[in-house]
Amino acid sequence: MKYWIRKTIMALGGNQLARSITSRIPRILMFHRFRSAHEVDPQAMSIADLRRQLDYVRRHFVPVTIAQLLGERESSADYPRKAVAITIDDGHESFLNVALPVFREFDVPATVFIVSDLVEREQWIWADKFNFVVERAREKRGDQQDVLNTQAVFEQLCRLPLDERDLGLAEFARTCGVEIPAHAPPKYRLMNWEQLRHLVALGTIDIGSHSCTHPIMSQLTQSQSEYEIAHSKAMIEQRLACPVTSFCYPNGQAGDYEDYQLRQLEQAGYACGIASHFGYVTQHAKRYALPRINYVGNDLNLFAKYVDGIEYLQRKPQYDLA
Ligand SMILES: [Zn+2]
Repeated sequence: MKYWIRKTIMALGGNQLARSITSRIPRILMFHRFRSAHEVDPQAMSIADLRRQLDYVRRHFVPVTIAQLLGERESSADYPRKAVAITIDDGHESFLNVALPVFREFDVPATVFIVSDLVEREQWIWADKFNFVVERAREKRGDQQDVLNTQAVFEQLCRLPLDERDLGLAEFARTCGVEIPAHAPPKYRLMNWEQLRHLVALGTIDIGSHSCTHPIMSQLTQSQSEYEIAHSKAMIEQRLACPVTSFCYPNGQAGDYEDYQLRQLEQAGYACGIASHFGYVTQHAKRYALPRINYVGNDLNLFAKYVDGIEYLQRKPQYDLA
């Protein structure tokens, strides 16, 4: 079946045909950090890749914010055609300093998810601290080994209650002989309220909540979860004087949030929830756990395959059974 679909699409004109067949199915793209031309940081998206991808989106799709995508719509039949919403998780300063001029150049709107208590306290995200420790430890040793172990430690830390997770991270840093600075180094720095107000004033960048402290939501008690969901919304709305209608689950893979939290989002007044598992916004997508297309690296053909919907058509039987 897959083979047959792929053969037919390619025979009939490939990407363009896929775009037109799937034009009523919105896509949500996920980006994190960005790097300028002279920076070396494999985890950050280069400015050249960003430019190529935004150019592609601008030429073939209708870029919208999450709020514009969902609006007051009750059913997926009402989605705007060819809609692509770009989301940026965590709210690092590199969005403002590196990426924003490119978003403006191509007139592409975006939704940025920020971590309210960390912005308030000028703190940084624990997962970034973890990456920082790993990077420093590797610099010291000058090798690239231990990738699997590092991933295992990260997964373990993710599954701990908050206070134990922080202790675990401190222990991990000690073991690696790395000191975690109180303030983030530039590439991990988050935008402050003043910078975020500047973004809001542009009118093309929406701000959503990425919780108060960036916990793995499934590790929280119900009342902690309610706090992360409701308090972050209230604080961002108060500090930035703008409505916050979308919530993005930290990490956001299956198992990182619970079913009851979808209801908590709705009760707190959010219009939608954004997850990180792969997928398209089909009629089967849950409004409070919408799937996304992750950053695919510097391969524009691969990007086109995902964003044009070829991947959707290949996986379609799976979606229909969802
Ligand atoms: Zn995040």
